Amino acid sequence: MPAKIIDGKKIAEKILEKAKKDVRTLKEKGITPKLVVIQVGDDPASSIYVQKKHDKCLELGMASEIKKFGKKITYTEFLFEIEKLNKDDSVHGILIQLPLPEHLSHKQVFETIDVAKDVDGLNPANHGKNLLGKECFRPATPIGIMRILDEIGVKLEGKNAVVIGRSNIVGKPIAIMLLNAGCTVTICHSKTRNLKEHTLKADILISAAGKPKLVKENMVKKGAIVIDVGTTKMKNGKLYGDVDFEKVRKKASWITPVPGGVGPMTIASVVENTVKACREITNA
Ligand code: NAD
Repeated sequence: MPAKIIDGKKIAEKILEKAKKDVRTLKEKGITPKLVVIQVGDDPASSIYVQKKHDKCLELGMASEIKKFGKKITYTEFLFEIEKLNKDDSVHGILIQLPLPEHLSHKQVFETIDVAKDVDGLNPANHGKNLLGKECFRPATPIGIMRILDEIGVKLEGKNAVVIGRSNIVGKPIAIMLLNAGCTVTICHSKTRNLKEHTLKADILISAAGKPKLVKENMVKKGAIVIDVGTTKMKNGKLYGDVDFEKVRKKASWITPVPGGVGPMTIASVVENTVKACREITNA
């Protein structure tokens, strides 16, 4: 039997419905949750993600602003801009769209984001708390993935989870969250030898490499849950995941499509985190 397809849009709608109610309650108290997304440069894929987050916030009655900077912005200027947002009482969530140019990718940039407004969990303090399993802002995509796993009713304890990718925004935090939930976790990356040897052991396989068709049918165990985080925009304008969807779905038990799987969950989690930040900052 082919895998059941996980409808990320539908799960995200439930989260957004709740967020909409929370926004209404906050607005009745005279508070409007506001997200600011910072983008440096004009990478077309990043621009799409930024716009989607912005549009969703506005649709829900929140305030939202996109701050775009040219790639030539200096490190000092960039930190100054983040600090301005930290001090701005009308702003509750600050999200830096990645990737950043090399000269801005220092840890210091992420440390500058106010921990209370860090709605994509980029500040090392939030990474540390995630590692320890403490209450904090976690990155939106891993939150979305955990939600998906919860929604399909998988019991995580004792499962073999294999994560492809070790970025600070997806691979590492999701691996930690799965570990804290009781999975046995393997993290694979570009230097991993014989990827297939690892992926074949996965009850839960999460791919966040950004390499179309990296995950093939012969790399997946029968009945595995396959979560495809990868999104690569091809020259034909289509978005491709990391997983060879049509073939892998014949073997998996559950699978996320691209688009319509993890993407909508990321947006919903950013919205949810911003509303949470607003409530906490304003004590509302
Ligand atoms: P990244 O480039 O920072 O990290 C990619 C990781 O994949 C690296 O750790 C690298 O070692 C690993 N990798 C690359 N090629 C590999 C290979 N052949 N075998 C094994 N590992 C390999 O990217 P990221 O920010 O973590 O994002 C990963 C992908 O997920 C991208 O396609 C990105 O667009 C997508 N993404 C999607 C969402 C969403 O909401 N759907 C959110 C974030 C990222």
